[in-house]
Amino acid sequence: MPRTTARFDTLAAATGWGADSRNGNGTSEPMDIESLFGSNTFGLAEMRARLPKQIYKALCRTVDHGEPLDPSVADAVALAMKEWALEKGASHFTHWFQPLTGSTAEKHDSFITPNEGGGAVAEFNGKELIQGEPDASSFPSGGLRATFEARGYTAWDPTSPAFIVSTPAGCYLSIPTAFLSWTGDALDTKIPLLRSMSALAVQAKRSLALFGATSEKVTATCGPEQEFFLIDQEFFYRRPDLVTTGRTLFGAKPPRGQELEDHYFGSIPDRVLAFMMEVERELYRLGVPVKTRHNEVAPGQFEMAPIYENANLAADHQQLMMITLRKVARNYGLACLLHEKPFAGVNGSGKHLNWSLGTESANLLEPGETPHDNMQFLFFCTAVLRAVDRHQDLIRATVAHAGNDHRLGANEAPPAIISVFLGDQLADVFEQIERAGTATESKQGGLLGLGSPVLPNLPQHAGDRNRTSPFAFTGNKFEFRAPGSSQSVSFAATVLNTIMAESLDELNTLLDAELEKGTSFEDALRTLIASEIRKVKRIIFNGDGYSDDWKDEAARRGLLNLPNTLDALEMQPGDKNRALFEKYGVLSHRELESRHEVALDQYFKTVNIEGETTADIASTMILPAAVRYLNDLVAAADRTRTLGVETRGLTRTVKIVNELVDELRDALDALVEQNAELGGETVHSKAYHVRDNVVPAMGAVRAAADRLEKVVPDDYWPLPTYRDMLFVK
Ligand code: ADP
Ligand code: MG
Repeated sequence: MPRTTARFDTLAAATGWGADSRNGNGTSEPMDIESLFGSNTFGLAEMRARLPKQIYKALCRTVDHGEPLDPSVADAVALAMKEWALEKGASHFTHWFQPLTGSTAEKHDSFITPNEGGGAVAEFNGKELIQGEPDASSFPSGGLRATFEARGYTAWDPTSPAFIVSTPAGCYLSIPTAFLSWTGDALDTKIPLLRSMSALAVQAKRSLALFGATSEKVTATCGPEQEFFLIDQEFFYRRPDLVTTGRTLFGAKPPRGQELEDHYFGSIPDRVLAFMMEVERELYRLGVPVKTRHNEVAPGQFEMAPIYENANLAADHQQLMMITLRKVARNYGLACLLHEKPFAGVNGSGKHLNWSLGTESANLLEPGETPHDNMQFLFFCTAVLRAVDRHQDLIRATVAHAGNDHRLGANEAPPAIISVFLGDQLADVFEQIERAGTATESKQGGLLGLGSPVLPNLPQHAGDRNRTSPFAFTGNKFEFRAPGSSQSVSFAATVLNTIMAESLDELNTLLDAELEKGTSFEDALRTLIASEIRKVKRIIFNGDGYSDDWKDEAARRGLLNLPNTLDALEMQPGDKNRALFEKYGVLSHRELESRHEVALDQYFKTVNIEGETTADIASTMILPAAVRYLNDLVAAADRTRTLGVETRGLTRTVKIVNELVDELRDALDALVEQNAELGGETVHSKAYHVRDNVVPAMGAVRAAADRLEKVVPDDYWPLPTYRDMLFVK
């Protein structure tokens, strides 16, 4: 038995990292952020410089005002884009799209066209810019496409700038596109998002017109905060569970986790900071406005967040953020884990989605100093409350997937019950309205004196923050805290936009009817807000969302509690939701059904892979390690007995290990049996089978294995432990 296992080598490797040994392209060169920012994007500034004026203007009408694209601009844009890309050193281009897998896809084509003289020229035309035709047959379609219908199309999204992806070996041009089936159905996350943004803009403009505040443009804005874990790459590759499923399927809780609360906002370790700086540099080049970086709550956990942008751009940039985090980590000998729950027992990772809507000049969810007399704000805020109240199920469904089940409702992330936190000031204003039909004052924050003449007095916010609410008003936007760290934010944003469009539409219509009757706008508005708030006040909750009391209280209020993925997905294709998406042209019935199928299928596949991986690791790594130890113990007991030595401790150890081996073997047999079950014919029944049978069977295997980890000697244990992975920086 070799005394040095792989695990000790990895410890050596992990401590061997130094600022000089990294191969990242460095923090030594000073960062000139102004010239770096957007330097690898073909954005409006680049287009203005390179395109004929008329073409540029036509394009702006589409990008800025959502007008239909004039097809004649495509050739000119393609030419300019190609020249720009060639100057950057690109040889290939790709249509970059976001299929229903939740990640991104690309297929590269060279610019090269052979010419008669045996040479070649680089070519790229409007047709190639506008439309691509990847084989769609291997992307999830949820039954929208029969297997023989392989054709799919990608369509240029002129509102999201093309960009250069650089790698050490060279670079290529990447063009954001939408992805649809041969029959014209959306097969991606971008198409419904763009449709929802238009629907929202139409209704918000209608509302603004009622307030006499016409606006050319209203956009949904999103700022997604990304949480992630970093561990040494050596550990990562020695954990088949992390490599295959993105999370640890085994691992005893270390003696020290996050209870000392010393990691959050702690000083960022050098190696991590170097990594973050390179991530930022890369993202700045791609025009992604990353702004904040800090340590998160769990050891080894961090967060980076951009400044908000329009929802479509934010969603594209969020994908680039995840790609870049993963890619750059390797330069520092790190692995970036984007899974919602890579480690049991410490906090998981989310992706708070900050959401609002605004005109060219104003955020429509800005309450100002005195929200009680800001009727326009109160109107938009009421619209949000109604929307969330009516569509709790749909909001919950946008974050329903296997990874998030480990996180939601686990006292570290918002509960699965959807409610809205408003903060003291707004809650008070709405209470006044509810009681008296109108609000006459707004609580003010005042000044905080610090008791020392050298420290400044600080203005205090009118309301505290609340970390336990899934949907919290945070000053001038709502923060949807339930999305998981690995998720695309597109569907969540799509749903928020669509339900808001519906809510505004209904409020607009009610106001129109009152005005028709001759009621003054002021009176109609005041009455409407008061009556709507009375109807939906149950959705407002400012207390502790983690407490058990809230579960009871929420049940009394009739709020939905959908604790896991399948409960939440169950409601997604219901009549209410179908009518909503159809009415606002966001998803057809077929498209909604297909998304439902894909979500179920992904859930089933994810858990299925986890079940198989658990069985593999338990049989081929953990059980053998335990048996090896048992064998040594038994041999030692044998030898000591021949010497006539008392072996009480040894005998007891043999017994303990033997019992755990029994337990592991039994649990493993049960899991193997469940893994072999197909769970019926439909994706629906398979998903329920894995939830109800495979998940608990995996849990039992893990429980036995984790107990073994605590008794089997360190040098026999085949997997890096939590203690190693979480604390070696
Ligand atoms: P916090 O810790 O308060 O959540 P962060 O700075 O981590 O603060 O994140 C706030 C996020 O909210 C940022 O991404 C920011 O750009 C975003 N945000 C701010 N204003 C808006 C807005 N009007 N619409 C959408 N997102 C916004
Ligand atoms: Mg936040």
